Amino acid sequence: MPETPPPRHELDLRTRAVHAGFEPDPATGAVVPPIHMATTFERDRDGGLSRGFQYGREDNPTRRTLEGALADLEGAAGTAAFGSGLAATAAVFSILQPGSRVLVPRDRYVGVRLQLQGHFRRWGLEVVEVDPRTPTAMAEAVDGSIDLVWIETPSNPMLRITDVVAAADAARRHGAMSVCDATWCSPAIMRPLALGCDLVVHSTTKYIGGHSDVTGGLVAWARPGEAADRIREAQRLGGGVPSPFDAWLLLRGLRTLPLRMRAHTEGAMVLARWLADHPAVAEVLHPGLPGHPGHQVAARQMAGFGGMLSIRMRGGERAAAAVAGATRLFRQATSLGGVESLIEHRAAVEGPGTPTPPDLLRISVGIEHPDDLKQDLEQAIAAAGSASG
Ligand code: PLP
Repeated sequence: MPETPPPRHELDLRTRAVHAGFEPDPATGAVVPPIHMATTFERDRDGGLSRGFQYGREDNPTRRTLEGALADLEGAAGTAAFGSGLAATAAVFSILQPGSRVLVPRDRYVGVRLQLQGHFRRWGLEVVEVDPRTPTAMAEAVDGSIDLVWIETPSNPMLRITDVVAAADAARRHGAMSVCDATWCSPAIMRPLALGCDLVVHSTTKYIGGHSDVTGGLVAWARPGEAADRIREAQRLGGGVPSPFDAWLLLRGLRTLPLRMRAHTEGAMVLARWLADHPAVAEVLHPGLPGHPGHQVAARQMAGFGGMLSIRMRGGERAAAAVAGATRLFRQATSLGGVESLIEHRAAVEGPGTPTPPDLLRISVGIEHPDDLKQDLEQAIAAAGSASG
């Protein structure tokens, strides 16, 4: 009797995060990858490179391990790691021909706004902005003149939700490339390649690193081809690569990514519900709340609603700034995705010309117990109220 093959069992993301990209080192049995600091690699006697590495900027074993692990988690054909999230976004814009038209949501990470307005203005990229008030606004705005559709969902800092399937589908129908900056989700919550995007971008500085101690970026692609080759070229010849130690820290971080995301998500949901009824708060921006205009779409495309929320204070800019300055557990600092909770008066951080409302506080919920975070915000709101009253 021929043996029936065992049923194929797809490993859960939580399991894959622990094992992705690495088998114990055959030379030593070490169960975690070594950090290869070498910048150059010995050739064979005949001048060949049978061991696959030549020079550290082009490729490095630790970086390759990270790229393999992230390709597994993203469901990608390949990935390229960069020295920061903005190095990754710049690599994507740099593969466009000068004069290309890029469709972007008006609410997006300030660094991408400045990169397109400043750095890539000299490239002649034409930026077409869409107000992403409804999840299908991006899809509706795509036409045959657009070369690249840039999706950021949930958006930074207004937490607008874009329907990724609809936007990627509209891009495909009109011959444009679709790219999703999924930094705020991480692959533990959303995998845009499975939703139809051509490329995914991450600031790995955030949830993938997870401990506010490493800066990095990533581009992942759905399939081999010209776009993938050009991204790889932008990495190797642009040269904005992470150090081997940074790659190692990111690998270490991603082992616990699904567990951390669960705690971030749970904490953000508790705070969002509580703040929605708080008399000092005019509005809570979080896709997990049923009244959020992107709630249904977010529930469909995300596994959990993520660890970010923004609130708009009834007391306006003064109240927002005062609350950010009065917290004790929440650190008043920019960035997001680390184990510690952060709060910031976002308009002040983004600077002049920002479209972000001045009464807005952006909150990155860490993995602390939500009751402690609630208590800290309560005392900060009370302290801010008595200071301004
Ligand atoms: N994309 C998003 C959505 C971000 O929030 C950030 C940083 O906050 C970036 C990109 C840029 O990443 P980095 O600071 O690693 O360059």
